[in-house]
Amino acid sequence: MTLSEDAARTHALDRKHVFHSWSAQAALDPMVITRAEGSYVWDGHGTRLLDFSSQMVNTNIGHQHPKVVEAIAGQARKLATIAPQHANDQRSEAARLIAERTPGDLDKVFFTNGGADANEHAVRMARLVTGRPKVLTRYRSYHGGTETAINLTGDPRRWANDHGTAGVVHFFGPYLYRSQFHAETEEQECERALSHLAQVIELEGPGTIAAVLLEAIPGTAGIMVPPPGYLAGVRELCDRHGIVLIMDEVMTGFGRTGAWFFSADEGVVPDLLTFAKGVNSGYVPLGGVAISGRIVDFFGERPYPGGLTYSGHPLACAAAVAAITAMEDEGIVENARRIGSEVLGPELAKLAARHPGVGEVRGRGVFWAVELVSDPAARTPVAPTGGSSPVMAEVTKTAKQLGLLPFINSNRVHVAPPCTVTEAEAREGLEILDRVLDRVDELVSR
Ligand code: PLP
Repeated sequence: MTLSEDAARTHALDRKHVFHSWSAQAALDPMVITRAEGSYVWDGHGTRLLDFSSQMVNTNIGHQHPKVVEAIAGQARKLATIAPQHANDQRSEAARLIAERTPGDLDKVFFTNGGADANEHAVRMARLVTGRPKVLTRYRSYHGGTETAINLTGDPRRWANDHGTAGVVHFFGPYLYRSQFHAETEEQECERALSHLAQVIELEGPGTIAAVLLEAIPGTAGIMVPPPGYLAGVRELCDRHGIVLIMDEVMTGFGRTGAWFFSADEGVVPDLLTFAKGVNSGYVPLGGVAISGRIVDFFGERPYPGGLTYSGHPLACAAAVAAITAMEDEGIVENARRIGSEVLGPELAKLAARHPGVGEVRGRGVFWAVELVSDPAARTPVAPTGGSSPVMAEVTKTAKQLGLLPFINSNRVHVAPPCTVTEAEAREGLEILDRVLDRVDELVSR
């Protein structure tokens, strides 16, 4: 198939002038996307693909939601930009809507341009409040691509950026399928992961640790839903040692797990909560830190030493107000929860039972990982952590040929459609995935 004339020009100019993220530039062949709507995107050949990636797991409200598009256009006509020191109606309203949904007393919001800088600022706040230098984060985590955030990250994307560890110490979180703790049950995994963290805190010196930073559910690193009690156990350890708990809900927030925030669902109130992506589905870049009363009070009389030109940008905040309002009015978070518990969860479990190449499926809401293995007994991944393999390349190719845009990482397919996905669309994607997994079975049984 050949690209349309416009798409061919887009592709050629991209190859000539655009430098892409996380990639060797020479052999890139980016897919041209010409339009998108709801759960679908169209490529440069005019082919429609069901978007089971939500792009970077951010289009929670689906593509081109008319109310969000209109809010951005209307705001652009009214007040397109304004400096952060001024109050503006959209930022005030967005902050209220977010504060009303975050757990506990996380009642003030510092807006950033995305998730990485949200984590950078949260860590800066924690260090200032505690006067301590270190931050503990999980192996198998992703916290962003800027300098501190990539050091906080616990997946292989950190390696090439490890010029100085920026006071970051990594620990193991719960991951029963590949248990670091030789656990056989969720209870054991939870108890042992907490005891491991307690020991890391003790040996690093509690008085040196500013924060524990955790993805509520590690996302790109594998969607390992923490066992019941784990997040509460981490909260308890932080309280015991005066450590700030930062929950990274950049990927999990705003409906992805079938709740506004996974930590709220678990009954855990962090001191700081970072968000981005689903806050306005990425229609305009936006992130932020929701801040608890104690930390707000710390900066009551002393200035917070940080800021951004676009903090609380009116276009981004107008998009957030419209997105959150539409999610509430249209029951989109409830839809994500229902699709997860009634369609994706049970149907993915059936796929796992039918396909020997599937080692495990796990997830919540519209946030699932399908882990592919070449030897189910040994749980041998079909690609290394942070890498790819011929099998995974074939998974991507076959899915696209069959009309599905998947989210692929290491040896996993992540099933992350928009929170607006209909049952029919979810089943359409699962049928394609079934055929993709047939191909995986063929390849791994050779
Ligand atoms: N934290 C988590 C959990 C993420 O998944 C991401 C991005 O994927 C980030 C932080 C970084 O966000 P951004 O790319 O907006 O800087």
